[in-house]
Formats: sequence, structure tokens, C-alpha cells
Amino acid sequence: MPTSAQMQAYWMPFTANRDYKQAPRIVASAKGMYYYDEQGRAILDGTAGLWCVPAGHSHPKIVEAVQQAIATLDYAPAFQMGHPAAFEFAEQLIEYSGHKFGQVFYTNSGSEAVDTAMKMVLAYHRARGEAQRTRFIGRERAYHGVGFGGMSVGGLPANRKQFGPLLQGVDYLRHTALPENRFSKGLPQHGAELADDLERLIQLHDVSTIAAVIVEPVSGSAGVILPPAGYLQRLRQLCDQHGILLIFDEVITGFGRLTTPFASDYFGVTPDLMTTAKGLTNGVVPMGAVFSHPKIYQTLADSPAGIEFFHGYTYSGHPLACAAGLATLRVFKEEGILHHAAGMAAYWETALHSLKGLPHVADIRNLGLIGAIELETVPGKPGARAMAVYKKAFAEGVLIRTTGDIIALSPPLILDKSHIDVLFAKLHDILAHPE
Ligand code: PLP
Repeated sequence: MPTSAQMQAYWMPFTANRDYKQAPRIVASAKGMYYYDEQGRAILDGTAGLWCVPAGHSHPKIVEAVQQAIATLDYAPAFQMGHPAAFEFAEQLIEYSGHKFGQVFYTNSGSEAVDTAMKMVLAYHRARGEAQRTRFIGRERAYHGVGFGGMSVGGLPANRKQFGPLLQGVDYLRHTALPENRFSKGLPQHGAELADDLERLIQLHDVSTIAAVIVEPVSGSAGVILPPAGYLQRLRQLCDQHGILLIFDEVITGFGRLTTPFASDYFGVTPDLMTTAKGLTNGVVPMGAVFSHPKIYQTLADSPAGIEFFHGYTYSGHPLACAAGLATLRVFKEEGILHHAAGMAAYWETALHSLKGLPHVADIRNLGLIGAIELETVPGKPGARAMAVYKKAFAEGVLIRTTGDIIALSPPLILDKSHIDVLFAKLHDILAHPE
């Protein structure tokens, strides 16, 4: 356990620091489906860390690849210079996307991927002589990371209110969490027409000002909000009709969460830009990536000679991250991770929805290997009820995640039925006996 001086020194992200430091939760190691604390107690991981460990913890093939990489090439400059794994990984990612995209741009996180995609959009329109297209359309209750771009198009009030006016000229679609869809299994049926909000915003701002729409195909951090059937298709159609670029933020849905490589595969809708991170390296080394349609790269590459896009990071395409990413793709293929996940999805859905009817359960939602249990909020104490469940579950050996009063579940994709049984038996037990 850290000393109190150590505890004081670490300003923890997205954490109630004072509350946490009174009763810290520490994990010391991890393997497969489990974390272990300093005493060796196993904690079943119901959230794949922070949605980022699809192939399970400390996968030996990924560990070995990173060990070899660090012993060979510790770092390579990312500007005007390259190393083989960065090119190899980019090609493999394009292949993994089914060649729906043409290029990959590396970042170090999902937040950086979002800000990078937004800058690509602006540079693209400018290069085409439409520099007045600067307005982004985000969505209420969206999470696009914590950069100023991502915060500005994001729709979570708590993430915005401390930081002033943010990027100007952004507008928002309504979110798609509709009461009539409560307890839907899989895709909700009501609300595809909410995509027509885009028409309204086009009327309001004039289409000539609108650069791009950014949405999470399935939102995660806002509490698992699903797109109604037909909604994403409608958004794509409207964007095409009006020359607006469409960005899918696939930071949580990428790399198998819906049992397909990307959510765009699941929905059969291809965006112009796709942001990814997390599962890209199985969470082992920080990395993000923006996948781009060739027309965007080509438009910028056709601009006068010189650097085409004044953007990049010291650690773009870091050798360790590329090694981890290449090994992750190999593991996905060799171990049939998506196939396995697809085989678990129906069992997962049934187990999750068996919690319906327990005290304070207001809604249950699922898609692929994602689940959400929304609890009634204690009046005047938002988030308190779910946080109590979270603490109790951790004490009893299960890691879940909460956002407000929503429990969000996103296990490693390697889980089997016995893990699903343990996870939901524990949640059943806790929810059936509220404090
Ligand atoms: N976009 C989405 C949809 C996310 O869920 C997240 C993180 O959860 C991010 C962006 C930000 O990613 P990062 O925390 O790697 O910056």
C-alpha cells in the first residue's frame, strides 16, 4: 500500500481524490480475465481495464513482442523519419479495416486521435477551397476525450463546465437515450429520426459553415447509449447529401467490442474518418490512430510541396506501441477472438437482462459485449447509488465501472460463460440487497 506521502503526491485523473485516498483500491498485477491486489486476491475484470484490454491481460505474445522491441529500437523520431514497424502496422490496420480506409495517422491516446481528426477535417476543407466550413456538430451526452477539440464537441456537462467557453461554433444533435427504448435487447427500435436533427442544424447555420459531424457509434463513457436502428445510416446519408464529413469515434467500439473489427462493420456504415485507441495495442502501450479515407490524405498530399499537415506528436508511431499493436492483431487472428466474442454475446445478453426487476434497476442495455445497468438516482445524490455498488463489487472481487448512476460493463473479449455467471451472480447479489 502506498505511504500517505505517496498518496498525497499523486493527483489522480477522473477520481474523487479525497474519497479514494481514505480507502484506496490498488491492483498490483494482472493476467487473463483477472487483476490481483497486493495480497494476491483475484478481481474479475468486468471492464477490460478502461475498455482497453480485449485480448485479456498480460497476453504472453504481446508481452514478448514489446520486450523484443524495447531491446531492439527504443525510440525513432517520428518526423521526416520512420522505422519498419510503423509502416507495417499501418498497412495491417488498413487491411483489418477491410480497406475501407486508406491511411492511418498515429497519436498517443483517444483524445489526441479526436483532436487530430478535427484538424484533418479543417485542413481538408481549406485545401478544397471551402475554408469557411469550420463548424463541428457533436451530440449531447457524447464523450470524445479531454483535448480542447474533443471537449468542445463532447456533450458531458461535468467535463465542460470547469473550462470556460471552449471551441466556438459547435452545435449538438440530441442524444438517443429514449425512455421508450428501456430494456431493449440489442439495438433499440425507436428514434432513428433523431438523425434529422442534422437537417435542422443545417437550416440554422447554413450548410456552407458545417465541416463535420462526430459521433460515437455506441457511446461508452456517457453510460452506453445505443444508436436506434437506422440512425447511423441516416446520418451518413445526410452528410453525403450536404458535403459534410462524418467522423466515428471508435475509441471504445474499435477492435472487437461489438464482435466485428469496428462498429462501422457492425452497422454497415463507413465514416470518412475513424478515431481509435485502447484496444489498438490491447492497452499495453498508449497509442491512438486516426483512420482516414484516401480522399482526405490525397487532397492534402496534392497541396504545394512541403509538409502537407502541420501536426504530429513526438511519440507518434512509437516502436513499442507498434510492436504491441502488431502482436495484438496477430493474437486476434490466431486466437479467433472476434469469433469467440460473437459466440458469447447471446449468453451475455440473457445474463445481463436477468437483472431486470431488481430494486432500483431503471434500464438495461446491451450490444456485442457491452452492457449497461441504469439505476434510479437517489434524490440529491447523483452517482451515489452506482458508486456504492462499484465499491461493494470491488471488495467482493469484481471490477465494474460506473458513470453517474449507470453501471457500464465491457469485459475482455476472451471471457467464457463461467466468468459471465460469476459477474452477474455477484451483481445480482449486490443489487438485490441495497443498503
Ligand atoms: N473517445 C471516446 C469515445 C472514448 O471513450 C475515450 C475514452 O474513454 C476517448 C475518446 C479518450 O481516449 P483517451 O482516454 O485515450 O484520451
